Amino acid sequence: MITLTLTTRSRTEFVDITAQVRREITAAGIKEGICTVFVPHTTAGVTINEHADPSVVDDLLMQLKKLAPAEGSYRHAEGNSDAHIKASLMGASQAVIIENGAPVLGTWQGIFFCEFDGPRTRKVWLQIK
Ligand code: ZN
Repeated sequence: MITLTLTTRSRTEFVDITAQVRREITAAGIKEGICTVFVPHTTAGVTINEHADPSVVDDLLMQLKKLAPAEGSYRHAEGNSDAHIKASLMGASQAVIIENGAPVLGTWQGIFFCEFDGPRTRKVWLQIK
């Protein structure tokens, strides 16, 4: 297992980790397989979406904020229920196919770490097999 460490800068933020994942796949020397990208946090997630136009991420964050506003009648007393909800909407893992030693992604796709309760130091675990 490989651990990536990220430092986020805002409460909510998407961090494009495609290049780091690609580097780790190259370093692992696996030609055909799967890279599992797993986020071991309850207020962060991982998703695959467009990384060519940054407006797509802006729109995703805007709509997630509407679905789970920071202020709401939540029961969880820690004050970050919106972050837990957004984390579950994005999910904790993604699987990426590896072919010819590289991740196979659609033309416009990138892998994003999704911060919902930053800024913090975060981890992403990769298993490349
Ligand atoms: Zn909490």
